[in-house]
Amino acid sequence: MKEIKLFINGEFVNSSSNKTYLTQNSGTGEDIAKVHLPSSKDIDNAVEAADKAFYSEAWRGCDQNKRSELLLAISEKILERKKDFIDWEIKDSGSTVRKAKADIHNTASYFKVMSKVTKSFQFERKDENASRPGFSENFRLYSPVGVCAQIIPWNFPLVMAGWKIGPVLASGCTTVLKSAQETPITANLLAEVIKDVGIPAGVVNIITGGAAEGEQLISHAKVKKIAFTGSTEVGRKIMSKAAGTLKKLSLELGGKSANIVLNDADLDIAVDGALYAFLYHSGQACDSGTRLLVQEKIYDSFIAKFVKRISEIKVSTLEDANAGMGPVINKNQFDRIMGYIEKTKKEGAKVLYGATQIKDGNFSKGNYIQPTAFEITPDNTIWHEEIFGPVVGITKFKTEDEAIRLANNSIYGLAAAIWSTDEAKAKRLAFQLEAGTIWINEYHLLNPGMPFGGFKQSGIGREMGEEGMLAYLEVKHLWRSDCNKREQKQWFDAIF
Ligand code: NAD
Repeated sequence: MKEIKLFINGEFVNSSSNKTYLTQNSGTGEDIAKVHLPSSKDIDNAVEAADKAFYSEAWRGCDQNKRSELLLAISEKILERKKDFIDWEIKDSGSTVRKAKADIHNTASYFKVMSKVTKSFQFERKDENASRPGFSENFRLYSPVGVCAQIIPWNFPLVMAGWKIGPVLASGCTTVLKSAQETPITANLLAEVIKDVGIPAGVVNIITGGAAEGEQLISHAKVKKIAFTGSTEVGRKIMSKAAGTLKKLSLELGGKSANIVLNDADLDIAVDGALYAFLYHSGQACDSGTRLLVQEKIYDSFIAKFVKRISEIKVSTLEDANAGMGPVINKNQFDRIMGYIEKTKKEGAKVLYGATQIKDGNFSKGNYIQPTAFEITPDNTIWHEEIFGPVVGITKFKTEDEAIRLANNSIYGLAAAIWSTDEAKAKRLAFQLEAGTIWINEYHLLNPGMPFGGFKQSGIGREMGEEGMLAYLEVKHLWRSDCNKREQKQWFDAIF
């Protein structure tokens, strides 16, 4: 069994309380890791280490070129150890082989892109418009915010750890990252990589734990910024906790994303795209396209194709390299999803496909649910509430205006997609959709050079792209005077 220790100040250490717990393989239920739960003292030690490292010569001496090299080295090391990462991501987070491979590749690419961003970022920028020769030169200086507390969910453990640690290293901040209690393994492997490539001790500290550990971490007086990815419910609590000391905040939260298929869409691609949108990682993705809006004229033919193609999805166990969909993470999540399915049935929604558990033979050990599709309206609970499972609600609409009204009828605004062969029309819709990422004839693909985040209760701030980097920097206005004779400084006379 694997042992997961705390990574504090560059060392892997036991919990000072000796408290440990076991995590399980999502596919088989067997115990896979003994994990050290940090005590209150350990969390303090981790923040103190990050604070000390932030002001240390070792880290201050790493200029942007050096930090860029370190980011690239992390990317390369992840690829060198990709088999290890893939094997553990499958067991730890219930990822299919294909999803785990994509996650490891994407995380390595992300660090590589961050390496380039770091190298080219202008930490000092003169503003010509604001400057006047003979009067003043004006600059923007970008400085790291300081010690960060970063909290991530269980659905994409390595990707989420990468998205958090990348901008910390790029900007010159330091961090204590808390992985999700359920899935601590690959973030811990990343700690090994971070140590191997020579990131100074204390710059990155990685612990795990649940709500209590998370709350202690974000409340620490030396933490200057909180970066949280998780549910909207917990995001709200974190925001109110941060208010006391006005810590900087970025929140990447839940979603109920609208996927709109217009009459002029390429039907075959749109059907497969709609399935990919809500079934990737068994629907446990924040940007899942869980409200599928299909225009009236093509509705019946779309549904006929959709039901045929959904029956061809290969739900299989995690050892199967060709599995298209695996289990959901654990029994809690399984019960939650089945609860929503039963509720939607009781509300009278028509079941188009699935809506049951899969438990025969090899499936008996994990938590498997059939891909599930309902016909719903905004009166149904699952129109509004995030399920985080392989469930979609489908609705018919007539006009573009109606599509926009329906799509925006949500407290969330993380992502949306439009399937259409008319680019001008699709862009017109894109401007009106209240969502942070919008795809035309695509789904789920993200670009590390572009911002990702949510409108409304899907979050605050953006990760990735230049926006993601700026979230870890404070901007200073630097004024250099060109008036260096006393008689030029008439404004001083205001007090004489
Ligand atoms: P969660 O909110 O229950 O937990 C997320 C993290 O917060 C975990 O590490 C957990 O231990 C910690 N936590 C829980 N309560 C806390 C508290 N009171 N104070 C501090 N930390 C606390 O979410 P989850 O079930 O792990 O993940 C699923 C959710 O994450 C979904 O809502 C999903 O949409 C969202 N998510 C969003 C994005 C995004 O980028 N927008 C990405 C992935 C997942």
